[in-house]
Amino acid sequence: MGLLDYTDELIETVENWDGTVGAPNAMNRKKNRIRVFKNRLIEDVFATSHPAMPGVWFGPIIMYGLYASLTSPDYGVLAGLALYAFGILTWTLMEYSLHRWAFHWKPADNFASKNRLFMLHGYHHEFPNDKWRLVAPPVLSWPIAAVTAAFYWFVAGPTLFWPLFAGHVAGYLAYDWTHYATHHFKPRSAFGRLVRRAHMVHHFKVFHLNMGISSPFWDFVLGSYAWSDDAIKEAVAEAKAFEAAQG
Ligand SMILES: [Zn+2]
Ligand SMILES: [Zn+2]
Repeated sequence: MGLLDYTDELIETVENWDGTVGAPNAMNRKKNRIRVFKNRLIEDVFATSHPAMPGVWFGPIIMYGLYASLTSPDYGVLAGLALYAFGILTWTLMEYSLHRWAFHWKPADNFASKNRLFMLHGYHHEFPNDKWRLVAPPVLSWPIAAVTAAFYWFVAGPTLFWPLFAGHVAGYLAYDWTHYATHHFKPRSAFGRLVRRAHMVHHFKVFHLNMGISSPFWDFVLGSYAWSDDAIKEAVAEAKAFEAAQG
């Protein structure tokens, strides 16, 4: 058995999937989750994650970065906080961009292309309530964190590295936990209700809108939001007309 062998269940699901990252198809609606890898270590340790775990992996980076930002000999406390906040903002743009322009692209009609997208985001749309694959598992979050760290190190330089990178990671953690909460907790605040509703509309009604998850900020800036009943109805009608025109 190869380390990365897929289960028959995964292969069958991807083969039957039409590649549309949208509402679950009829077959998947009846299930909460499927198993992806045959190897238990890969499946349980690297390809799934308890929702608390990103805090364990990334919490120390966030805390150390905040400490380094506030005690740097190169800039003052306020500048440190501003840089940290800017790092958070860069995450929100990355969250929006990845979701809008990478996770929802239309794959080619072959297994490899469909499978790649399914692993990235299709799985979450087909099985939105799988608790174990809701926050990003290490196989996804660690490489992205490594590339982002290298980017900040080489582009911003060692002096600005910690506040920017740690702020960015703090934004990521807030996103992952907000996303988990939108699927598994009842929101108590008006903002929480808005975030949840926007995300459920994205899952089940209009997949090309409401791409921001931790906040609707970039949807608002880039005009991709649908919150009111009228806006949602209009977007659904537009999407249907577009599909009909495509045949
Ligand atoms: Zn999505
Ligand atoms: Zn979701």
